[in-house]
Amino acid sequence: MNDLYVLYRGPLASCNYDCPYCPFAKRVDPPELLRADRADLARFVEWAATTTDRRLSILFTPWGEGLTRSWYRDAIVRLSHLPHVARVAIQTNLATRTAWLAGADRDVAALWCTYHPGQVTRSRFLDRCRELDDLGVRYSVGVVGLPEHHDEAVALRAALPPTVYLWVNAADGHVYTTAEERRWTELDPRFPDSVRPHPSLGLPCHAGETAISVLGDGTVRRCHFIPTPIGNLYDGSWRAALRPRPCSNALCDCHIGYIHLKPLHLRDVYADGLLERIPAAWPPSRAPKSVVPTR
Ligand code: SF4
Ligand code: SF4
Repeated sequence: MNDLYVLYRGPLASCNYDCPYCPFAKRVDPPELLRADRADLARFVEWAATTTDRRLSILFTPWGEGLTRSWYRDAIVRLSHLPHVARVAIQTNLATRTAWLAGADRDVAALWCTYHPGQVTRSRFLDRCRELDDLGVRYSVGVVGLPEHHDEAVALRAALPPTVYLWVNAADGHVYTTAEERRWTELDPRFPDSVRPHPSLGLPCHAGETAISVLGDGTVRRCHFIPTPIGNLYDGSWRAALRPRPCSNALCDCHIGYIHLKPLHLRDVYADGLLERIPAAWPPSRAPKSVVPTR
């Protein structure tokens, strides 16, 4: 069966957290937008349920926080039980309760969790991680690689079971010195993938061929980073649009984009964990070095 990786982003842009580096911090969506987000998601789930000629792997990438909304939780549970859905995952701050995941197929549902120091205590975040461990849910944990997050990231790595992969995202606009890059790489051996944007112009990318980005109204684009639509999910035009294409952007600097950039071969690195960001060979045969906080 043909694999199709789908990134879905509806209009929802509200979040319960107040991260200083985020434009969606403490944003509140008006009721009509929430209703539209819910209706759009319901339509998308129906599309996924009836598109049985593809093996679907779906990642929800809301602008804000989705799991505080029942419709994202319900969508993940439902999609996880569909035989042609190989993976359904969501990017989340993990603030919400986790018990609902007991209703999901935990071989299919997964979480991409970001720890935001300053918004939640480490111990509370770790409690949530332990809940996921108890439930047997696949998840990755990550932090934004800001200098002021380093000590927290070290402590988090030390407290998480070695089986849990901790990723580090290079902070937007931050140029890393060699020493900084080394410090973060000691925590996340794949940090070099993130530390600087990948030149991508003209290079072959799976986006638009076996990966698509979908907006709430069904607009299909190659990826979140090239705004030109290539079709629509609900009129079937997405099917004819899928073909190999070179990237038309100069750079690709986000994990959910460059994992599809063919010369990087990151699909081989992540395999089944591509969308929830867990390398196939994790934990590595040698555990990451323990790192001593520097401040
Ligand atoms: S948790 Fe995520 S969406 Fe919410 S404010 Fe922080 S970075 Fe933004
Ligand atoms: S390399 Fe990045 S920006 Fe270019 S098509 Fe692929 S995902 Fe999109």
